[in-house]
Amino acid sequence: MVPCTIRPSLKLSERVRVKDALIFSLSTKVAMAAKIIDGKHVSQVLREEMKKRTQNLLQKNIHPGLAVILVGEDPASQVYVRNKAKACEDIGVHSRVIRLAGDTSEADLLEQIESLNQDPSIHGILVQLPLPAHIDSGKVLETISPSKDVDGFHRESVGALVTGHAVFYPCTPHGVIKLLEFYKLPVEGLHAVVIGRSNIVGKPVALMLLERGATVTICTSRTKDLKSFTRQADIVVVAVGKPHLLTTDMVKSGAVVVDVGINRLDSGKLVGDVDYENVSEVAGSITPVPGGVGPMTITMLLENTLKAAEAL
Ligand code: NAD
Repeated sequence: MVPCTIRPSLKLSERVRVKDALIFSLSTKVAMAAKIIDGKHVSQVLREEMKKRTQNLLQKNIHPGLAVILVGEDPASQVYVRNKAKACEDIGVHSRVIRLAGDTSEADLLEQIESLNQDPSIHGILVQLPLPAHIDSGKVLETISPSKDVDGFHRESVGALVTGHAVFYPCTPHGVIKLLEFYKLPVEGLHAVVIGRSNIVGKPVALMLLERGATVTICTSRTKDLKSFTRQADIVVVAVGKPHLLTTDMVKSGAVVVDVGINRLDSGKLVGDVDYENVSEVAGSITPVPGGVGPMTITMLLENTLKAAEAL
C-alpha cells in the first residue's frame, strides 16, 4: 500500500475529491496487478488427490515405488534427491535412493539400472542429472525401461511426445501445463512464445503447447530482436537461466507469464528469469519464483510414478 495523507487544510469537498482520486488510482493499480499462479497451492491440491490414488493402489496390493539414483556428491543434486524422496513419503509412495560414488563406472551404473528395470517393487526410475563427465548421460537415459521412464527423457518418450502419444510427459513442462489448466487459462488459438530450447524444458513445453492448439514460437540465444516476438505473445514461457531477461517492455498487457528459470543472486536471493516486480504490473497472470513452476516439477514426478504403477 502506498502511504498517503490528505492535507487537513483542504476544504471538506476538496478532501472528498482527493480521497476519491486516491482510491481510484489505487484500485486501478490493484486491477492491473497480475493474478498469481500459485504453484505451491496447486501442488498441495494435486498431492492430496495423489494420496487417494496411492491408497487405491495399496488396496490392490500395489505399493508404488520410485528409485532415484544419485552419482557423486553435487550439493544441489543431493538437495533435489532428498526433496524427491520426501515428496514420495508424504503421499505414501515408497522411494529408494541409491547413492553411488562419483567414480562409479558407466558399466556399473548401467547394471544398476538394468536391475531396477527388472525389479517389480520399482515403478519409476530417475537418474539425477548432471552425471559425472566420464559417464554418457544419453546412454544412461536410454537404458531406463520406457515403462519406468518417469522423467520422460528416454528417446521413446520424446518420440511419443512429438507424435502426440506421450505416456510420461517430462516433469517441468508438464507442471507448466498443469498450472495453466488449474487456473483455466486458455491455450487454444493463442500465441505462445517459449524462450529456451533445452530438451528438458523449452522443446517439450513448446510441443505440449502446440498439442493444445497454441501457435508456438521458440526463441533462443540466437534470436534477433527477442522483444518483437514476446510483445506479440498471449503466453510467454521463459526457461533460460538469466535473471531479469524478461522485462516489462517485452510483455503485452494481460499476457500470461510463466517463469521456469531458477537463479541464485550473489545476495543469496532466489529469482527467476522474469523481472517479476515490474512485469507483474503488466501481465494478466504470472508465476512467482520461488513458489511457481518449481514445486510442480516434483508433483509431476509423483504423477508419473503413480501413472506407471496404475498401468500394471
Ligand atoms: P539450458 O541452459 O539447457 O537452456 C537454456 C536455453 O536458453 C538455451 O536453449 C538457450 O538458447 C536459451 N538462451 C540463453 N540465453 C538466451 C537469451 N539471451 N535469449 C533467449 N534465449 C536464451 O537450461 P534449462 O535446463 O532449460 O533450464 C533453464 C532454466 O530453468 C534454468 O534457470 C534452470 O535452473 C531452470 N529449471 C527449472 C526447473 C524447475 O523445476 N523450476 C526445472 C528445470 C530447469
